[in-house]
This record gives sequence, C-alpha cells and structure tokens, in this order.
Amino acid sequence: MRDPNDLLEEGDGLLLVDVQKDFCPGGALPIEEGDEIVPVLSKWIKAAQAKRIPIYASRDWHPLQHMSFEGHGGKWPPHCIQDTDGAAFHPELKLPDNTVKITKGVRFDQDQNSAFDQTGLAEQLTRDNVKRLWVGGLALDVCVLTTVLDARRLGFEVHVILEATRPVTPEGGEEAIQKMREAGATIVSESLQQMPKR
Ligand SMILES: [Zn+2]
Repeated sequence: MRDPNDLLEEGDGLLLVDVQKDFCPGGALPIEEGDEIVPVLSKWIKAAQAKRIPIYASRDWHPLQHMSFEGHGGKWPPHCIQDTDGAAFHPELKLPDNTVKITKGVRFDQDQNSAFDQTGLAEQLTRDNVKRLWVGGLALDVCVLTTVLDARRLGFEVHVILEATRPVTPEGGEEAIQKMREAGATIVSESLQQMPKR
C-alpha cells in the first residue's frame, strides 16, 4: 500500500471535501460506505501534519429550507443544516486545530457544491503557497467532482485519492473519474500509484 508520507511534498495541500455525518451511513443523505474513507483520510492527515502540509476541510452548511432541498426547488433530502448534529464533521475524523475550514452552501439563492465556489479558497491556497492538492471526501460525483474541476480550472495540480472518496451512484462515480481525468487531474490509488488509463 502506498504511503502518504512518501507522496506528500512541500507545496502540497490536503483538501477534505464534506466529510460530514449526514453524508455517512445513518445520516440524512447517506453515501454508501461514506464512513470507510475516514480511516484512509486519518492516515493522510497524520502524514500531512508530520510534514507541515496545510489541511483544508470543507463543509456543507445549509440554512433551513435551502433551495437544494426537496420541496424547495432542489433534489436532495434536507442535509447538513447549520448547527445540527448531521452537519458536524465525522467524529472519527481527527482534524488538527490548524485545519482551515471552508463553509459552503450558505447562500439562500444557490447551491455551492464546489469548495471553491465563492469561498475565497483559491486565494487562501495561493497565500499558503499550495500548488498541488490531494483530494478526498464526499461525494465523488457531486462536491468532489466540482471541487476538482474548479481546482484544475484555477491552475492547481490535483491528485484524487481513490480510496478516500465514494460516489452517490457507481455510474456517477465512473463518469466523475472520467471528467476529472479529462480536466487533467490524476487519480491515485493507494494500491497502484496511478489508475490505468482506459
Ligand atoms: Zn448540500
């Protein structure tokens, strides 16, 4: 198995997308095996800490009756409502105190799937001298996808950690991987350095 300690370098950042209780089994919008990414990410967090690689964690943080919710113009069951238990980061995800948190999905009039969408994250990464991102989180075919596409568009190098993400649907996951590759992101598996190109 590939060791994050050997992969992380100066100029890297670790970006964890929406690793929240509502997106894990038992939550309001559960992603199958969503919680299985947590031990994987914990290893990456530990390695990043040891190497002084900055860590960023985004969270979906919706107002009540958000426009992305069923019955309010959207397609998702209500999830990650501000200050609720379901909006909390997964309890086993031990985020260091110096983790930079990114709050998104707060706008009443639009959804913000990407961690870059009107959050100022790109500017923060530039300030922190981050050029390459290692990305994991939930869900692969929604918020991870849009985040990775934005990161590429903004000129960041991106490595997606395959074991550290799960899709809403398997088909959606396949499609997301293809789109991310087309955008120049690298899909990294811990067992293979890079997934074979199809
Ligand atoms: Zn949401």
